[in-house]
Amino acid sequence: MKTKITYLLSPQTIFSRFPIASRILTTILEREKRFDVQYPSGLALITYAKGMKKLKEEYYPILDSLDTSYGAYARMWCGERFPIFYSFTGIYDKEILEAIPTEIVFFTAYTVLDFRLVKVMLEDNRKVLMGGTSCMVYKPYQIRDFLVQMGTDKDLVDKNLVIVNGYADLTTDLYSIFEKWEDTEITENKLSTIWDCYEDSFLEHLSIYKSMFFAGLGGILSTGCWWKKCKFCTWLYLPTVNFTEGVPTDKIVNHFKILSEKYQSMDVDFCDNYMMDTSYNRELFKKLSDEGFRIKVFTGVLSSKNEKYLNFINETKIHKICLGLEGSNDFSLNYLNKGYGKKEIDEMVEAYKKHLNRSTRTSFMTIVDVPVGAETKPEAISQIRQHYDYLLNMKEDLDREGFATVFALHPLRHLPGTNLIDGEFIKHATPEQMNSDTLIGLFGMYEYLSEKLGIDLSAIRNAQCLNDPIVRYLKNGEIMNSDMHYVDREVLKKIGHM
Ligand code: SF4
Repeated sequence: MKTKITYLLSPQTIFSRFPIASRILTTILEREKRFDVQYPSGLALITYAKGMKKLKEEYYPILDSLDTSYGAYARMWCGERFPIFYSFTGIYDKEILEAIPTEIVFFTAYTVLDFRLVKVMLEDNRKVLMGGTSCMVYKPYQIRDFLVQMGTDKDLVDKNLVIVNGYADLTTDLYSIFEKWEDTEITENKLSTIWDCYEDSFLEHLSIYKSMFFAGLGGILSTGCWWKKCKFCTWLYLPTVNFTEGVPTDKIVNHFKILSEKYQSMDVDFCDNYMMDTSYNRELFKKLSDEGFRIKVFTGVLSSKNEKYLNFINETKIHKICLGLEGSNDFSLNYLNKGYGKKEIDEMVEAYKKHLNRSTRTSFMTIVDVPVGAETKPEAISQIRQHYDYLLNMKEDLDREGFATVFALHPLRHLPGTNLIDGEFIKHATPEQMNSDTLIGLFGMYEYLSEKLGIDLSAIRNAQCLNDPIVRYLKNGEIMNSDMHYVDREVLKKIGHM
C-alpha cells in the first residue's frame, strides 16, 4: 500500500517565482511510486490573496492616512511581503492545517520563519519531514532548540520531526529517508540531474499564479559566497556547490526552453549570491539571450565597478542586475563588514555611467536602521538624512543617464547564528523596549503595524528566537531609534517610487 504524504512548500516561496526546490521535489515525488502525494499548492495562493485583500481594503486606507515617514515606509514595505507577515501572525494556521489531508507532511522550509509552521503542524500531531535551505543553515539540534523555545512539546519535537540537510536531486531516495525516520544528511549527489526536473505542483494553478505575479523562472548555477563576511547574512553557512559541473550549456538552455513552454515565461531569475564572470556563464547567458530569455542576476559593488565585469553584463545581454548596497555611510558599511565604502559605491555609479548598456535594469537593496558612527544624536540624525539624500541623488543620477533604477528598502533583522548584535551598537531589546518608538529593524516594523493596524503579534512574539527584536545605540550609549523617525518623507517616497 502506498504511503500517503502531503508535500507542502513554505508559504513564503509564493513570490520567489517558480521555486527550484519545488520543481526538484515534485519531480522526485512523482517518480517515487511508494508515495501517494497530495499537493495543497493552491493554499499558498489563497492565503496570499486573502492577505492582499485585507491589506488593500482595510489596511492601505489606514496607512495612507498616516502623515509620517514611518507611515510611508510601512506603506512601501507592505507590498507583496505583507501576506507573508500576516500569515506569520498565525491568522491562517487553522486553514493551513485543514488543507493538509495526511498525517505525514514533507515540508520545504525557506527561511527560519518557516519553523513556526513546523510547530503548528507538530502540535496538530502531524509527522513532519523537513528540508530546504534553512536546514542547511542551521544544525538539526539548533532547529529542535528553536521549536522548544517557541513552546513546542519536546516529545513531539523528538519523535515527530525529521530534519534533512543537503541538496536533493533526482537520485535522492526520499522513501529510504522517510523509512529510517531520523535526521539525515544527504551526502551523495548527482546534481546534474536537477536539470531534468520540470514538474511543479504550482503548475496546476498557473493561470491564477500568472494573474497575481510576475512569473519568472527560478534558476541557480551555484551556491556559496566568495565573501562570506557580512554580519547579518546566513547564506554564508551554505556549502559551496556547483550545479553545472559537467553539464553542457546546451542542456541548461534546453531546460529553460522546456520550462518556458510549461510555465509560459521567458524570464529567468538566477538566485546565485554573486553571478561570476566565467567563460561558462558567458557561453550560457549568450545562448539564453539569443533564445530570447530575459536574465536577472545578483552581483556586488566590488565586481560591478569593474569595466571587464560590466562588459560581461553587456555582451551577454543580461537584462537586470540586482545588488545589496545596504548603506552609503562608511561606518555603517564597515559595521556590516561589506568590504567596501562610499568611495567604491561612487566608483560603481561612475563605471555604470561609462560602461553599462542603458538597456540593463538596475535594482539596489538597502538596509534601514544600520548603526551610524556619530557621537551625538543630532550628528546621527544628520548622517541618516545624508544617507537617504545620497540614495535619492544616486537614483536620479542614474535615471538621468537613461537607466531604470529601482531601490528597495529592507528593515534590518537579526537572524540567529549571525553576529550582528555586538552589545555596543546593536543589543537585544528588553521587554520595556518592545515598541516602534524604540525598536529598530523588522521588529520595529512589526510593532508599528500592530500599533497602527491592530494586528495581534502574540504568535510572532512567541517565535522571537527566530528573529530577534533589536535596539540601536550611539557611541555615547544613547538609544538611536529608527531612521524612519528622521528621514524626510518626500525623499523617502521618491527613493521608493511612491
Ligand atoms: S550578504 Fe551577500 S556578499 Fe555578504 S556574505 Fe551574504 S551572500 Fe555574501
